Amino acid sequence: MSTKRTLIKNGCVLTLDRSIGNFTQGDVLIEGTKIAQVGPNLEAGDAEIIDAANTIVMPGFIDTHRHLWEGILRNIGVDVPLEGEISYLAFVLNTLAPAYRAQDVYVGNLVSTLGAIDAGITTVLDWSHIQTTPEHTDGAIRALQESGMRAVFAYGLPWFEAPKPEHPDWFRRAAKQYFSSKDQLLTLGLAAFGPEFNSLEGNQADWALARECDARITAHVGVGTFGKHGKVGEVGKAGLYGPDTTFIHCTTLSDDEIQMIVDTGSTVTLSSPVEMMMGHGMVPTQKFLDRGLRPSLSVDVETNVPNDMFTQMRSIISLQRALLFERKLAGEENLPEFLNARDVLEFATIEGARANGLEHKVGTLTPGKEADIIMLRTDRVNVFPINDPIGAVVWGMDTGNVDSVFVAGKALKRNGQLLGVDLDRVRKMAYESRDYVVAKSGFKLPTI
Ligand SMILES: [Zn+2]
Repeated sequence: MSTKRTLIKNGCVLTLDRSIGNFTQGDVLIEGTKIAQVGPNLEAGDAEIIDAANTIVMPGFIDTHRHLWEGILRNIGVDVPLEGEISYLAFVLNTLAPAYRAQDVYVGNLVSTLGAIDAGITTVLDWSHIQTTPEHTDGAIRALQESGMRAVFAYGLPWFEAPKPEHPDWFRRAAKQYFSSKDQLLTLGLAAFGPEFNSLEGNQADWALARECDARITAHVGVGTFGKHGKVGEVGKAGLYGPDTTFIHCTTLSDDEIQMIVDTGSTVTLSSPVEMMMGHGMVPTQKFLDRGLRPSLSVDVETNVPNDMFTQMRSIISLQRALLFERKLAGEENLPEFLNARDVLEFATIEGARANGLEHKVGTLTPGKEADIIMLRTDRVNVFPINDPIGAVVWGMDTGNVDSVFVAGKALKRNGQLLGVDLDRVRKMAYESRDYVVAKSGFKLPTI
């Protein structure tokens, strides 16, 4: 059987690969799961043609940290901070999480993945700290598989109970059963408590377990008041960190700890909307840029923020520029460079690929990479006429512009509609699970 070929034709193609460049009008040829060619006027041969006129064709967005199981808790705590008596930690992680059955993890993950695909996200890291039983693990993974998107499943323990002695073996079981191949859409990570929420020995055990199973490691650090005790530096002296490690937030770390993250070749993900609204501390974008590390971006919690990367890009660039303009207005000279639209578009794509350990596979439209591609409509009334395609994506568009989404060459969304998804079924399951979890936990939904 010959490999299926698809030609996405006559779009404005943003490859975001600096060696290839971008094309005001160009084509992308997909062969099987991969990008075969990019450029103007490609020969179609027997390929199926997809008309990309009036669209921008670019790599899918990449979200490097999201708690997908919280998909059924969307916007449940928008006015609630991270820490304190009435807080995210108290009501989501310690009150609602214990009520979750395996079925609820499946539904939360399914809702969140479908929202991500709809928003043009083709890869997500599922920071899944809800592994109460092996069945919860199976539920999370089943939803990721069913969604068709590319994902890093980062296995994490619940935060409302002490770790169980069986957990390392549960992780090994999942690694063996689901992740024995790297040549698939799902790859494995370990969502560790990290230096601020575990002992040195606990951290050493986590890093060792992840490396034993060839999994990436991801941890929240610099988290509000928890980040102020020098733990990242202390644990880092044991030599654990490296390019397989992604640090989340980093908002209240010391400069020495930030430098340690950079020096060890670790990657970083920032969730600036959440960090600003929930009190994690100041978003440390500039501290990393000053040291030559470019961050990736992440939605983190749908309990508080929307599930798209347009919001992420606009948030982080606005804040970085506001803080620099403040310095300029205060008379400071020789300022660092202002982020531009291309910078944050890269944070939301290739830097995301890097932080997920997938830069050899996705993040740019480069021949040989997997065909994770989105098409964004330029003929909607919110963006035409297009004067600056990158500016339009970063500053003008929203999820309503996401026309088509392909993962490994397979269409998951076309003409603005998710494919092969029974939304009535998903919506019914979402309300049923939400009702169960809320009732079981005793949590009261916000009133209007
Ligand atoms: Zn998080």
